[in-house]
Amino acid sequence: MITCSQCQQSNPGGARFCEGCGAALEDPQAAERAADVIEADFMLTQTKRAGAMLLLVAILGSIGGLVETAMAHESERLVIGIINGVLWGSFFGLWLWSRRRPLAAGITGLTLYLLIVLLAAAGDPSTIVRGIIFKVIIIGGLAQAISAGFKHRTFVRQRGLG
Ligand SMILES: [Zn+2]
Repeated sequence: MITCSQCQQSNPGGARFCEGCGAALEDPQAAERAADVIEADFMLTQTKRAGAMLLLVAILGSIGGLVETAMAHESERLVIGIINGVLWGSFFGLWLWSRRRPLAAGITGLTLYLLIVLLAAAGDPSTIVRGIIFKVIIIGGLAQAISAGFKHRTFVRQRGLG
């Protein structure tokens, strides 16, 4: 049953035009579905912010890696260069992946980043405070994006938008 907003006439469910005044009737289910799609899109946009964080890690890490490689002793330079290339190159890869799979790329990126921070701190505890602002921004940003990604996934499943 759909009540006409113009003349208050009751019309059978599924009717597209009012039987009383001929005005176009709003389908409450369609309106609800449109609102759900907008909400899901918003959650997805938040999830895709993981991509910006992954790119930030890739760029900052590459710069740090280049400096480290340039300053390394000649005998170790090649190995250090390769390690840095693989490490930060994988973040560029995650950034590209995040365009299609932002949640999976965000989770992988956060895990890898935390591992790098923890391994560096295990080797030299003073590294934990180095660039602490960037670390907080990156870890916080990825965690927020991942949280939005899980909300999005649950929401899409519940509302049957999949
Ligand atoms: Zn009407």
